[in-house]
Amino acid sequence: MKKTDWQSLKERLSSPLKIVVIPHKNPDGDAMGSCLAWARYLQKTGHEVKVIAPNEYPKFLKWMPGDDQVMIYDHAAGHAERLILAADLLCTLDFNALSRAGNMLKSLEKAQGEFLMIDHHQQPDDYARYTYSLPHLSSTCEMVYGAIKELGDLELLDAEMSGCLYAGIMTDTGSFKYPATTAETHRVVAHLIEIGADHSLIQRLIFDNNSPARLNLLGRALSNMVQLPEMSTAYMSLSQEELDAEGYSKGDTEGFVNYGLSIEGIRFAVLFTENKEEGIIKISFRSIGDFSVNSFAREHFEGGGHQNAAGGRSRLSLQETLQRFESLLPPYQKELQSP
Ligand code: 5GP
Ligand code: MN
Repeated sequence: MKKTDWQSLKERLSSPLKIVVIPHKNPDGDAMGSCLAWARYLQKTGHEVKVIAPNEYPKFLKWMPGDDQVMIYDHAAGHAERLILAADLLCTLDFNALSRAGNMLKSLEKAQGEFLMIDHHQQPDDYARYTYSLPHLSSTCEMVYGAIKELGDLELLDAEMSGCLYAGIMTDTGSFKYPATTAETHRVVAHLIEIGADHSLIQRLIFDNNSPARLNLLGRALSNMVQLPEMSTAYMSLSQEELDAEGYSKGDTEGFVNYGLSIEGIRFAVLFTENKEEGIIKISFRSIGDFSVNSFAREHFEGGGHQNAAGGRSRLSLQETLQRFESLLPPYQKELQSP
């Protein structure tokens, strides 16, 4: 694991820079929260900063302070590329491989500036001059708090940054329930609340903002659920036709995969979502315990992530993908059943 060179990062940040801050494609609460808080910190320390997201993200994340300044690469690729080429420093947050920036990859490959990675995914690629990678940490937001602390600037944290960081820690820990949630996570969160993160409001803004379409889709996904008790596995699928019929919009299926894990005895849950436009089946994997969905997604579905939460994709049809998935399980039976 590369050690973070805080001293040289501090020196690099000691004069005003042009900086872009970038979350992964299909950004989630942790990606947007960490980018917006980090960008605000950099602005406060005198830099010219732009957050550029590769593509659109769900409405339930759009309340975050600074969101109105975010540029979407897919909507303004030319302008975004000019900012990327002019940047002295490119901060990539909440992802471990440049390919996770989607279409933006081709612009990032032309960048002249140095990269700073802040991320908690396993197996970070080696593209950054400054790498801050802690795969055991709950979230990139917890790491951004840590980075600001390392740089000696915790007094610059304000209510806006705290709200963004709270949102990312809360979403990536499943509301503080996943094993990566530590005493230190709670200490960080306590400090964020002291500074002004409105935890109760943020919970409501993110979780109690369902559209009727999302609830109808959840109904479809649950009724499509297949349980394989002998494999301790449950999976759900949504075809493009079903998504269209319910008026799907981005982010509507966020969290669905966890319903599988709420069933007694199930330790491996999967959601397959057809995306006709991209010609792929997007797959979300979750597990409880030692079964590594990171390895499973890497080996079989062009993906990766963390031990208990990972993503991937398949280029087969939805039906073929489901069949292939079932046929891959038997060698894992023992591992999935061990307590
Ligand atoms: P989700 O199922 O929510 O899309 O992803 C679960 C976790 O795995 C998230 O932390 C996400 O960033 C990560 N992830 C999703 N897809 C990929 C992928 O293709 N590669 C890697 N390395 N991580 C992924
Ligand atoms: Mn994350």
